[in-house]
Amino acid sequence: MAIKVIKEKCVGCGACVTVCPADAINMIDKKAIITDKCIACGACINKCPVEAIFKEEGNKGGVNIDEYRGVWVFAEQREGKTLNVVRELLGEGRKIADELETELTAVLLGHNIEDEANLLIKYGADKVIYANHELLGVYTTDGYAKVIYDLIQERKPEIMLIGATNIGRDLGPRLSAKVHTGLTADCTRLDVDKENRRLMMTRPAFGGNLMATILCPNHRPQMSTVRPGVMEKAKIDENREGIVQVVKPELKDSDIKAKVIETVKSDKPVVALEEAPIIVSGGRGLGGEEGFKLIEDLAEKLGGVVGASRATVDSQWIEQSHQVGQTGKTVRPGLYVACGISGAIQHLAGMQDSKCIVAINKDPNAPIFEVADYGIVGDLYEVIPELIQALDNVDD
Ligand code: FAD
Repeated sequence: MAIKVIKEKCVGCGACVTVCPADAINMIDKKAIITDKCIACGACINKCPVEAIFKEEGNKGGVNIDEYRGVWVFAEQREGKTLNVVRELLGEGRKIADELETELTAVLLGHNIEDEANLLIKYGADKVIYANHELLGVYTTDGYAKVIYDLIQERKPEIMLIGATNIGRDLGPRLSAKVHTGLTADCTRLDVDKENRRLMMTRPAFGGNLMATILCPNHRPQMSTVRPGVMEKAKIDENREGIVQVVKPELKDSDIKAKVIETVKSDKPVVALEEAPIIVSGGRGLGGEEGFKLIEDLAEKLGGVVGASRATVDSQWIEQSHQVGQTGKTVRPGLYVACGISGAIQHLAGMQDSKCIVAINKDPNAPIFEVADYGIVGDLYEVIPELIQALDNVDD
């Protein structure tokens, strides 16, 4: 879909320019001209007093999908280091590319980070497109969207995977709107139908009560943001070889509307739940904020970190960064201990792939016991101190 101006009707009033959120309309010779910054939001259509602007529906049959080949992974970096989710996407992307008998390409944007580009090959990419530019050192929506959009137009990948991080959740929708393709956000599973090269993108829907598998049959690339912590990480192969293509994108200061002046890091400790091999989580059964002291004690004893249900986060007993579940983090540790957590489907969505689940709950019918490998029915204020005591005895 594209926004078009009927020149004969345009009276050059400029109303569309003032309302455009993407600064995508120029007035030239008293006629509105839509530039490639357009995000097709349609704000100008509603504002135009003479109905000179319309949305062209375009080819409903989509693009010629045979022109599109290859799987791309967005290699998100912060301060020059790619995130763990990139290794997860490379692991999953590798499987999909092998299934489709095509290339896996990592797309890295940054400034002077050649070493990271080489590392992506060792994690399974056949090729790395490394866009090196001083304006790409720090993420900006406009800069990154423009460069990746240009690359997609030129090289036509059939699949593009992006981590559902804060940056990925900003970049993915912007890119898909620019390219006029679909995006399935926050996927927890990806499969591929080899016969028609369709990516089957699965994500929780309707409040997590069912899993929806979404297809993008007529447009390319098929785009998906994938939750961090869900897919298995690619393993490093020091001997792997591939191609690193360095590109110098055409990018000017004026292409980027929002300037990053300073990055201020939160002084609150960030809990790396997705990486933790052991997680002890507390729920509403703790009865109050102070209950997390007991959870911390058990986590420390086991060498793990503290997780939480959303009920406790909503009650402000603990920071949101600890939340596990559909709207929190997805984890798959070796050991997950759920204390005073009922096992709502939205919580299970974030932890049910843990290797070993231990549940402590005073209600023998709590749904958490259905996914638990070991269940302890009892008051957590009695059970946890006994566990800690038992672990102390083991230490002794
Ligand atoms: P409760 O359901 O109230 O369970 C408390 C449990 O503690 C009970 O089973 C009780 O038997 C037990 N208990 C009480 N006292 C004791 C005791 N002394 N000893 C032992 N056991 C005790 N939730 C999440 O966790 N993560 C999410 O990401 C998430 N996302 C959501 C997204 C949407 C769109 C919606 C609608 C909901 C979401 N929720 C999420 C909320 C979810 O539906 C539940 O409300 C929440 O998980 C319940 O938290 P809980 O198990 O701590 O509390």
